[in-house]
Amino acid sequence: MGEQGKKPSSPGKPESVAAGAGAPVSTNCCVKGCKKSFERFGFCAAHFEHFKFGLVKKDGQPAADYEKKLEQYEAHQSRKDVRKVA
Ligand SMILES: [Zn+2]
Repeated sequence: MGEQGKKPSSPGKPESVAAGAGAPVSTNCCVKGCKKSFERFGFCAAHFEHFKFGLVKKDGQPAADYEKKLEQYEAHQSRKDVRKVA
């Protein structure tokens, strides 16, 4: 009790990531399960493409019609490099 207000964390002090302590500050892509580090808007390059396509929202959650959009996305991708499809 009486422990209001967190200690101001001094800059420069390395903070180890405590398990289960709030939102972990990570440099990873915000899409769940993605282990890549983010490049733009919190997404890795691949997921940023997904985001642009509307597959995932900016918080990393999949869109409501994710599967449908994924089909469109993949169709779009394969159309882009239709070269040597055996
Ligand atoms: Zn990612």
